[in-house]
Amino acid sequence: MARDSRYDILFEPVKIGPVTAPNRFYQVPHCNGMGRVFPDSMIARRGMKAAGGWGIVTTEQCDFHPTADITPFTETRLWDDADIGYLAGMVDAVHEHGSLAGVELVHNGHDVGNLYSREVPIGPSHRPVKANNYPGQARAMDRQDIRNYRRWHRDAALRSKKAGFDLVIVYHGHDGTVPSHFLSKRQNQRTDEYGGSLENRLRLFRELLEETKDAVGDTMGVIARFAVDEMMGSEGLEWQNEGRDAIEMLAELPDMWDVNVSDWANDSLTSRFAPEGFQEEYVSFVKQVTTKPVSTVGRYTSPDTMVSAIRRGVVDMIGAARPSIADPFLPRKIEEGRPEDIRECIGCNICVAWDLLSAPIRCTQNPTMGEEWRKGWHPEQIAEKTTDSHVLVVGSGPAGLEAAHQLGKRGYQVTLVEARGELGGRVTRESQLPGLNAWARVRDYRIGQIRAMVNVETFLESNLTVEHVLEFAADHVCLATGAIWRHDSVGRANRSSIPGMSRDSVLTPDDVMDGKRPPMGPVVIFDDDHYYLGSVIGELMSAEGYAVTIVTPETMVADWTQYTLEQGHIEGRLKQAGVTILTRRNVIRVSEGEVVVLNALTDQEETLPGSMISITMRLPNDDLYNDLMAPGEATKNAGIKSIRRIGDCYGPSIIASAVYEGHRYARELDTEVEIDVVPFKREHHNLELA
Ligand code: ADP
Ligand code: SF4
Repeated sequence: MARDSRYDILFEPVKIGPVTAPNRFYQVPHCNGMGRVFPDSMIARRGMKAAGGWGIVTTEQCDFHPTADITPFTETRLWDDADIGYLAGMVDAVHEHGSLAGVELVHNGHDVGNLYSREVPIGPSHRPVKANNYPGQARAMDRQDIRNYRRWHRDAALRSKKAGFDLVIVYHGHDGTVPSHFLSKRQNQRTDEYGGSLENRLRLFRELLEETKDAVGDTMGVIARFAVDEMMGSEGLEWQNEGRDAIEMLAELPDMWDVNVSDWANDSLTSRFAPEGFQEEYVSFVKQVTTKPVSTVGRYTSPDTMVSAIRRGVVDMIGAARPSIADPFLPRKIEEGRPEDIRECIGCNICVAWDLLSAPIRCTQNPTMGEEWRKGWHPEQIAEKTTDSHVLVVGSGPAGLEAAHQLGKRGYQVTLVEARGELGGRVTRESQLPGLNAWARVRDYRIGQIRAMVNVETFLESNLTVEHVLEFAADHVCLATGAIWRHDSVGRANRSSIPGMSRDSVLTPDDVMDGKRPPMGPVVIFDDDHYYLGSVIGELMSAEGYAVTIVTPETMVADWTQYTLEQGHIEGRLKQAGVTILTRRNVIRVSEGEVVVLNALTDQEETLPGSMISITMRLPNDDLYNDLMAPGEATKNAGIKSIRRIGDCYGPSIIASAVYEGHRYARELDTEVEIDVVPFKREHHNLELA
């Protein structure tokens, strides 16, 4: 199909200094927990982005000196020529598809403790190291240190040229790099020519841009990546003040401006906290002060929004990290006239979480993310079926929907059966909670794909029993029947049931999503899950007029959301909603209208008035599976070749895991899977001593 002419503008080439991007799709630098530790994985996934049509594909952050050692995070590295090899591999993978390859040179200065290199951290002024409250300090750089630093940066640019890169990104973002530390009034207390006035604080960034252009600018485009606003009012950079002034002062120096807001938690806001294109209000001035191409990010997944941002004069390039993760083939799909096939990012930041956990990237929407080399999975291609089997998929949550979708794509005859009146399982239910609306995209993308498949049929309002399953006479039965929240508060903090807890005395998230409510008044949410649900239900109940208290055994509310960069935003929103947060407390007793908690800091019991909502853990909803597997059951003679559980019904977890399990089931059907063999390829190092 030809592309819609409305979108032609997205496919115009853009000149960036001496190089030309084939279109306006710019995969901005984004970390992915692979880098130098998992180089084959990294190369394959960057190559996949280029295959999918991203005109520019860049590395994650690439630290360029032992004083910039970001251990334990696994990003790319360019300390000397020995690091060129695998980066050149990435460049080749990107060039193979006609895209430009970029490298983001990063020195995190006083943010990092140099845990591997053991070098003393450096920065504009003496100050404690930021990451993980590491109990060491960065020392203030003297003039010689600054000269050294500039030379290291220049050398790294030259090395990146040797690796074959077309673009070098000089990084001044996220309040996380030496030049951004120098610019920051609150971090730079220098009294020399690098401190004080804006001109002085900006000097280092100017020098880096000038020296990079001088070193490699004849053949490579030089991009300035710059955060114009730190979202902290006058304490930080503001786009109306120094953010704008800085860009005006350097306006024509780089070949392109890649602008955003800072820090990372503000730049990568989840859909719960910001809509598509949310950065435009901060960066739209940039094009007025420079003639160079400008790019920004903002979870752009709609081609209409992209075209609008270009036509309104906000940007020239569409920058994207998460949309390119959820759908590496986003540009191709627009180009081929099928934008409805785009797998839109849901803005959940599971991708970010895996990077912050120093593990290879995962994505909720795209189960092949990170598996391109390890498992040879392609986001758009899957092997044709090898038998004429009929597969019955029971349950239409993220696991069941993904299994049905991919099995359908393979050509199997698929029957997808759902007990409820609508498809989507937990995704449908949870997306109705405050701020989680975009999560319905997990369902909507898959329903959109299945709808076009004649070999996939769907039944709603059909709560299957063993007899029903047998009636379908399927060759394979895939149980994706989900999981159910416990009501007895057993979970991480309590390994046995709490006195007073029963189905009648407490509500669970399932109850709340079913519309059940406690009597109006105070409500105590016991959050021993630590992810999003506790705070989301807190927001919901507060909006409905309840006086909400969230109790958590952890030191902060929604503790795990630190990995999705949401914790601070969640805390802020709960405070705004008037929710009381009690940390380091465990629920020990519940009685009529009262919840008794033990304060771990005082060892005292505290009695909180209110009804209780318990969010601790889930149990698999596997009754149907157990019935089917029961000895002597009729299934024995029914000709069923396999019965498998997937998703939450097998092991309750995050939505990304359910989608992955569904995908894996579909990939592996009718293949020989040896469970004693590691089910993926691994990177192996060349050892010197063995
Ligand atoms: P997952 O995250 O693993 O996909 P979900 O909880 O989102 O799991 O979805 C499970 C779905 O299975 C729910 O929509 C539920 O209504 C459905 N379901 C559970 N038991 C049955 C059954 N016996 N027959 C049909 N559908 C079922
Ligand atoms: Fe988007 Fe979530 Fe995938 Fe990240 S993990 S790309 S936020 S859908």
